[in-house]
Amino acid sequence: MENMNFENLGLCPEIVKAVKHMGFEEPSPIQAKAIPAMLEGKDLIGQAQTGTGKTAAFGIPLLQKIDPKNKKLQGVVLCPTRELAIQVAEEIRNLAKYMHGIKVLPIYGGQEIVKQIRSLKSGTQLIIGTPGRVMDHMRRKTIKMDHLHTVVLDEADEMLNMGFREDIETILEGVPQDRQTVLFSATMPKPILEITKKYQRNAEVIKVTKKELTVPNIEQFYYEVKPKNKEEVLSRLLDIYTPKLSVVFCNTKKQVDLLVNALLGRGYFAAGLHGDMKQEQRDRVMQGFRSGKTDILVATDVAARGIDVDEVEAVFNYDLPQDDEYYVHRIGRTGRAGRIGRSFSFVSGKEVYKLKEIQRYCKTKIYAQKVPSLDDVANTKIENILDDVDRIIESEDLTSMMEAIENKVNHSDYTAMDIAAAFLQMCAGMTKEDAEDEFDFGDTGAEDPGMVRLFINIGKKQRVRPGDIVGALAGESGMPGKLIGTIDMFDKYTFVEVPREYAKDVLEAMKHAKIKGKTIAIEPANQK
Ligand code: ADP
Ligand code: MG
Repeated sequence: MENMNFENLGLCPEIVKAVKHMGFEEPSPIQAKAIPAMLEGKDLIGQAQTGTGKTAAFGIPLLQKIDPKNKKLQGVVLCPTRELAIQVAEEIRNLAKYMHGIKVLPIYGGQEIVKQIRSLKSGTQLIIGTPGRVMDHMRRKTIKMDHLHTVVLDEADEMLNMGFREDIETILEGVPQDRQTVLFSATMPKPILEITKKYQRNAEVIKVTKKELTVPNIEQFYYEVKPKNKEEVLSRLLDIYTPKLSVVFCNTKKQVDLLVNALLGRGYFAAGLHGDMKQEQRDRVMQGFRSGKTDILVATDVAARGIDVDEVEAVFNYDLPQDDEYYVHRIGRTGRAGRIGRSFSFVSGKEVYKLKEIQRYCKTKIYAQKVPSLDDVANTKIENILDDVDRIIESEDLTSMMEAIENKVNHSDYTAMDIAAAFLQMCAGMTKEDAEDEFDFGDTGAEDPGMVRLFINIGKKQRVRPGDIVGALAGESGMPGKLIGTIDMFDKYTFVEVPREYAKDVLEAMKHAKIKGKTIAIEPANQK
């Protein structure tokens, strides 16, 4: 397996050229093993983790086996999600860049079926589709399988997780007996083995062992964090490491929404991705992330599966994954294409044991780190700013700025040093209020740990209604009114719950505000 290169894998020159063009220097281990086997026409079971280049492992031989003169459908790749179908189709199109007469089409639900049918009629040889939609077309006879020679199941475990088993079986029943069946999966649970037994013949098993799997250039850290402090710790880590793009994993859709709001409230460019979102919404989010408009993607495991963006420099396990395997999937989102990557996992209480188990399972070391203090954050910010300053002094013309400073020095009692220090403080965003440790409101009696319960000294007797409270809080602080939680009104006072991340702003904004013309006092509630 030494000195394996694309030239001696027996590929046609067009593909070798495309591969070079894509910047691949040598085949990845799974590619080195799978490509020759697939070209021989063998059925195949390929097991390798995310990010190991499985797409090209089947895409390259698939393309080479397609006869461009035959305009009938020759190959089908099944993928679990629309995003993956599009991504795989894109990668295969890139691989086919220098080949002529090959048409590749992604097929998925949510797309206009009439349009799909029209595209299918114009001589598509290879479709990349989700099982449901492919089956739909088979039923309608808008795709015909009689010339099909290869079926690929990509991310087979995930397709089964998503409930596609029956659809997959229906498709495999409906394709020619003497086709080649290739299956790729990150894990090999029993149902997968059942499918391989039933639908493959003498399949060769190609497994890239775990050791090769853990991506070497990812630094992995963990932090012991109380759940209520996770947001703050995440912010500090984001400020210290300033990753270009990051993905933050949560275990639930609700947590995704909460965290996105919290991050937005703190001034980060974040967006969420989860299964409840409409397809257009998801596409928009992914586009924003790819283009760097959004630099923090907050996602659930399923929604993030297969996301492949090279500039992701950090992965956060905001919640520890429920499944050990997911840990590997998650951190595989970073450190791609030879770049550095870091992963940060938050654990609270007993979760430390779960983390140890992940380490054992993944044969990897996750290093404990101390939660950075606000001082650490401040120091890093200062270092970063001073680095920028060096660059600016070296490369920019500062004449007019110097004049302004000179002017200030001459007309005040301050030295240039005072002025520089004030600027530094300003740039680091460390004016007095910000520097306070702001995340611990203590227990205010709110049921949801994400909320803070506030006390206002005004109630029913003053003819105040809940709407007035919402209006005042939202109006003064700029917090969306719909984020306000339970409002309990009593005769002379009111309790109102607001998201923890907004609590400080609300208190600040309400200091001098009036409700129904009346001056009020507002403060965090005492527990009971
Ligand atoms: P998987 O399906 O195993 O998760 P992908 O096929 O999505 O992985 O590949 C992950 C990334 O690695 C993609 O950006 C792909 O273009 C790139 N890649 C694939 N093969 C190679 C290679 N031989 N050399 C360098 N990069 C590669
Ligand atoms: Mg893949």
